[in-house]
Amino acid sequence: MPKFSVCMRDCYDTCSMLSEFRDGKLSVRGNPEHPITAGFLCPKGALLPKWFHYPERLKNPLIRIGERGSEEFREVSWDKAINIIANKLRETIEEYGSESVLVYQYAGDRGVVNYAFPLRLFHYLNTAMLDYGICDRAGQEALRDVYGTAVGLDPEDLRKQKLIVYWGVNPFWTNLHGFMLAKRYGLETWTVDVVRTETAKRSHRFFQIKPETDVLFALGIAKLIIENELYERDFIRENVYGFEEFKNYVKRLSLNYVVKKTGLPLEEIENFAFGFAEKRGVIHIGYGFQRSLSGGEAVRAIAILPALVGHPFGFIYDMKTIDKSYAEGEFLRTKPVKRIPQMKLAEYIEKGEIKFLYIYNSNPLASLPNQDRIRKALKESDVFVVTHDIFLTDTALYSDVVLPANTFFERPDIADSYYHRYVALNEPVVRLYGKSNSEVTRLLAKALGIENPYLYESDEEVIRKILELNGLSWDELRRKGFIRVPEKPRRWETPSGKIEFYSQRAVERGLSPFPEYRKREGKYPLKLLTPTYRMTITSQYHNTYGMIDPNLYMNPADAEERGIKDGDDVEVFNDRGRITTTVKLTENVPRGVVLLYKAFWIRLLGWNANFLTADETVEGYGNGSAYHSTWVDVRKAK
Ligand code: SF4
Repeated sequence: MPKFSVCMRDCYDTCSMLSEFRDGKLSVRGNPEHPITAGFLCPKGALLPKWFHYPERLKNPLIRIGERGSEEFREVSWDKAINIIANKLRETIEEYGSESVLVYQYAGDRGVVNYAFPLRLFHYLNTAMLDYGICDRAGQEALRDVYGTAVGLDPEDLRKQKLIVYWGVNPFWTNLHGFMLAKRYGLETWTVDVVRTETAKRSHRFFQIKPETDVLFALGIAKLIIENELYERDFIRENVYGFEEFKNYVKRLSLNYVVKKTGLPLEEIENFAFGFAEKRGVIHIGYGFQRSLSGGEAVRAIAILPALVGHPFGFIYDMKTIDKSYAEGEFLRTKPVKRIPQMKLAEYIEKGEIKFLYIYNSNPLASLPNQDRIRKALKESDVFVVTHDIFLTDTALYSDVVLPANTFFERPDIADSYYHRYVALNEPVVRLYGKSNSEVTRLLAKALGIENPYLYESDEEVIRKILELNGLSWDELRRKGFIRVPEKPRRWETPSGKIEFYSQRAVERGLSPFPEYRKREGKYPLKLLTPTYRMTITSQYHNTYGMIDPNLYMNPADAEERGIKDGDDVEVFNDRGRITTTVKLTENVPRGVVLLYKAFWIRLLGWNANFLTADETVEGYGNGSAYHSTWVDVRKAK
């Protein structure tokens, strides 16, 4: 009998799957009953058995015996590894205090228990915790400014819509089921992006703007909608705070300036504004472009557009259906939490504020920007690093102890989605190697002599309790493999209780009440974009599928100016680093922009784009990452 599984990747779709283990082989297929993921898997999901059976999965704990970054480890027993970690943890807390310990985890595996359960131990120990900023933070803050929440439309409500705009998102690669859903519902699709992506090629209209001009494009559209009186008057009067002030603000905006900066002809901007108003469009706001210094302002401006045409929550960005705080156990703390901004990990290590780093579900030594800095910081510090992972990742190579993790096919869990409203069940299919995050947590708690019962709850107990707390049926979940979380009526949790075109929350943070455009330029002439590749999810699958694209993509005119031809080896450089790769010339990338796909394994490739990317953060927007505010130059390699 097949078991219900969930693809736990950091992916919008959170596919429900049916999995079997027969004759020593795992097989997976999509669960045909799931209303969104509808029985098919993307190419990454279809290859999951290859990932699962990959021969280089870690099987035994390792202790580093060489330099950080070397591949010199020796195998030890689980007992020994757990005791080493527990002793070091105890010593560190005694000598430097509990806040010198940081647990660093992210969305490498989105199982609710697997993600959250280890945090119980670290909350119990009152350690420092991460303040997440790597992915969608600036946009989260911006949407809270306007709507009081980053949770927008239920994608199943797209069936009532006529037009969806993919703004800075490439769902054909990263949200395939969402892309297909819009097609199934017969929506017209438009794309706004700097690069002609695969989604742009398949959209009815494509608006190609210059980098970091999203704010101006959105404000220009708003101006046209308002000044041509195409907005929903009654809706605005009742539900929007600061409309008149915003109207006066955009009145001062010159459309010629918008044309000049965005690179779009006026006619195109008008086409967008008039078509969007007529069809009452909704917008899928992407994560990529908000990872830039202007990202927060951009999302704030874009977020206003669906409200102008009368949508209460007319955007897709995040989805929160269930409360998972029980799994995380912050209630176990006895001291207030110190949060360390995720994007400032290197800085905190350099300052000596972190002495013990426990990493799981994440590969920061491939995914963080400015890799030279974080690597140097780790090499020069005395921080003790533990990594719990399925593979010997770049991060594992910099660790003192490496623990083998198991996969989601080997443990029970549930997963919610940040796109749709379904929670899916994950049943263990087989057990091969490694231990889950919760198993390791229990072992560590025992080795530390902690008796608190919350640290010993079984995975199933945690799952059932979360379902109960959220009013969801365990029996229904077990029968179908997924369960829809009903939507409750909601209002806008802003200071005014309305949609805020004039954001009081932004003002409190010292920002303008309205989204502002600021010209961004770097020391180098070319803007480097580092989006995700089709066959990887950040650094995941590079090692197992081996399908990466390490080429630099460049506009032919920029190449010609530098005497570069298609297929040449080139150096891409800035003050942070330098990498050598092969160039491919394409008109899909506009002038002034170059593109490298992100976060491949440095251990396998010898480099990745994060040797170049900026580690500044988006000020005023929660220290969100600014990967795409990176400038470089390119020259022919010698
Ligand atoms: S990566 Fe995303 S779309 Fe692909 S199988 Fe996993 S959840 Fe589904």
